[in-house]
Amino acid sequence: GPAPEAKDAVTAWLAKHQPGFRHYIGGAFQAPRDGKLFDVHNPADGSVIAKVAQGSAADVDAAVAAARAAFPAWSKTSGETRARYLYAIARHVQKRERFLSVLESIDNGKPIRESRDIDVPLVARHFYHHAGWAALLDTEFSGLGPVGVCGQIIPWNFPLLMLAWKVAPALAAGNTVVLKPAEYTPLTALALAEICDEVGLPKGVFNIVTGDGETGAAIVNHADVDKIAFTGSTEVGREIRKATAGTGKKLSLELGGKSPFIVFDDADLDSAVEGVVDAIWFNQGQVCCAGSRLLVQEGVAERFYDKLKRRMETLRVGDPLDKSIDIGAIVAKVQLERITKLVEQGRREGAACFQPSAPMPGKGWFFPPTLFTDVAPASTIAQVEIFGPVLAAMTFRTPDEAAALANNSAYGLSASVWSENIDRCLDLAARIKAGVIWINGTNMFDAAAGFGGYRESGFGREGGREGMIEYLTPLKKNSAKDPAKA
Ligand code: NAD
Repeated sequence: GPAPEAKDAVTAWLAKHQPGFRHYIGGAFQAPRDGKLFDVHNPADGSVIAKVAQGSAADVDAAVAAARAAFPAWSKTSGETRARYLYAIARHVQKRERFLSVLESIDNGKPIRESRDIDVPLVARHFYHHAGWAALLDTEFSGLGPVGVCGQIIPWNFPLLMLAWKVAPALAAGNTVVLKPAEYTPLTALALAEICDEVGLPKGVFNIVTGDGETGAAIVNHADVDKIAFTGSTEVGREIRKATAGTGKKLSLELGGKSPFIVFDDADLDSAVEGVVDAIWFNQGQVCCAGSRLLVQEGVAERFYDKLKRRMETLRVGDPLDKSIDIGAIVAKVQLERITKLVEQGRREGAACFQPSAPMPGKGWFFPPTLFTDVAPASTIAQVEIFGPVLAAMTFRTPDEAAALANNSAYGLSASVWSENIDRCLDLAARIKAGVIWINGTNMFDAAAGFGGYRESGFGREGGREGMIEYLTPLKKNSAKDPAKA
């Protein structure tokens, strides 16, 4: 497992914040105004690890007021100054990477190898990258300025990384923020609030209100919020779009996906098998851009499935803090139940279901890696986002068929194409409607590359230049760089 000091530090930190974690508003930890708390669980054993403030409309009001009060001064600081804060946050994240990765794995259930080697390093990378944009703001985005107070609502699958994707560009551009982490995984966000405190970020620039969907709705509906950035389900995204329609609020939505993973008969099949492992079993498949639909060219399908099944037998499901496991726990009991139901439905719909023979851990919320073959393209498991370790496989004969199957989805977030012939890959990539397309690779992210979807996967981009634009708006001529007040 991870260094025992890091585990002890997490245990001590959790104890220090009981009887209940508080909101972070105006640079201070504040108890919920109506005293309500909710439980946060460790998905690896189902135990309650913390009580956390349930944000009310009054708490949201206080946070928005703090963000509004901080906006004039923050939006007028030089880009250089804001860059220094973002660099400092990045350095502190790196300094505490062991603590943060253990905390993330305990809260979310993801393997410590992933939180340590992927999530937390990418968090630091995002803050470093956006520090660069802050410093370049005046030259690269002349004529544009910050939007104002940004309400940011994030999901539980990459708790600290989704925070970084949202907070780093918002602050770089000179906005102030009210962020609501997901109710299953609010803890690393609160640890980041402590980091903001340590680096002396001006009070009120970054605020956190913890809570559930009602708290999120209070942020969305608040009259003094200028922009909403949301990552989460397509269903909630639709509600937010309706709620913000007819208001002046700027909006970006990063929603679900059902991304195709396409294997041509001339692909390096062993590499493609490893690609599938990364595409659908990384983070237990709880990844918006997971390659959850496997499309294999007919001639190699049986061989490919055999290889894949052999590989599945070697995947270890277990304690997220054990460095040798491949698949951790599902974030919440309701998510596990949802996955279980959809897999039952897949069986009923007649697809062939394969799961490896290894037993599951005796406690906690776990689900085995699952492969469905002979999946009908119109069936539920081929169309609905399962958001779990479940892969639905289909075959195709020609590139035309591959393109048609790939686009046979309400979503358009990502795709992955595998062939040793680069022309084949590029030809197909051009025909797939998806925001991100990987060739002979999958789930690769970089702070410099805009990430986002088409169709029901949402709109707007996060990362790089395109991501910065989401947090900027044209400055009024002669305004005091404060369009929200002008
Ligand atoms: P969810 O939509 O239920 O919750 C996401 C967040 O929204 C949570 O913080 C939740 O409290 C809040 N929320 C819920 N109802 C709300 C409301 N009415 N108004 C405002 N906020 C509300 O989604 P989830 O189950 O937490 O996350 C899983 C989903 O997120 C999946 O569908 C996945 O594809 C998607 N996702 C997308 C991306 C992306 O970048 N496109 C990334 C990660 C996850």
